[in-house]
Amino acid sequence: MSRKRMIYEGKAKILYEGPEPNTLIQYFKDDATAFNAEKKAILDGKGVLNNRISEFMMTRLGSVGIPNHFIKRLNMREQLIKKVEIVPLEVIVRNVAAGTMSKRLGIAEGTQLPRAIVEFCLKNDELGDPLVSEEHIAAFNWAQPHEMDEIIAMALRVNDFMSGLFAGVGIKLIDFKLEFGRYFEDETQRIILADKISPDSCRLWDLETNEKLDKDRFRRDLGGVTEAYAEVARRLGIIKESAGGAEIVDIKSGGK
Ligand code: 5GP
Repeated sequence: MSRKRMIYEGKAKILYEGPEPNTLIQYFKDDATAFNAEKKAILDGKGVLNNRISEFMMTRLGSVGIPNHFIKRLNMREQLIKKVEIVPLEVIVRNVAAGTMSKRLGIAEGTQLPRAIVEFCLKNDELGDPLVSEEHIAAFNWAQPHEMDEIIAMALRVNDFMSGLFAGVGIKLIDFKLEFGRYFEDETQRIILADKISPDSCRLWDLETNEKLDKDRFRRDLGGVTEAYAEVARRLGIIKESAGGAEIVDIKSGGK
């Protein structure tokens, strides 16, 4: 029986109190939700894959100087993270039109955008995470203007790095969602990348076939959701195929 104190339960994760001050344990669930939780399912093994994919991304981003909350993976479903005060925004970066942008603006899905576009949504399930502008963010004090400067610069750096990383394994990064938090340390406060990065929160298309390798498979009933996530993990070198199916390999050993 777990003795950890639960701090928060989200749609795909649970946060528990961490073993040291200023730490939390992030647990990855198998639950999948879409359309503000109107559609739900349990996808066996999704949490295990997302734990590894998020570890991989956060570690790589850390190694190129993008500060983030990841400390270490603890086991198949849990990672130790820095405790932050979450900025109540979903930060979306888009390279190619898809999803709500296509719907809202009538731009055909798959249209290359002239430049990366950063959008903000207020994190509020009751309101369906509405799109907001920097004017709203400043007026309602959801984040300070200097914090927004850091968030936008970091989001674009994440986009450049992840676009290259995915392109190297034959995947096009269409769009993704990030969350940021305020980390308090030695009486200073800084913005770091938080939450998780996985095919739950990115659109990933095969470079050659445009096959979807992300949560749109669930949203649009395309089937093969966990298989697609495993394919992403396999291409990144996180898992390898074996006679008995997918097998997780140690990232630190190079993952080949
Ligand atoms: P859209 O606004 O087109 O629905 O989503 C844009 C991108 O952000 C997609 O990659 C989508 O997966 C991600 N995204 C937007 N909102 C959420 C959310 O509430 N949860 C997750 N996991 N991803 C989101």
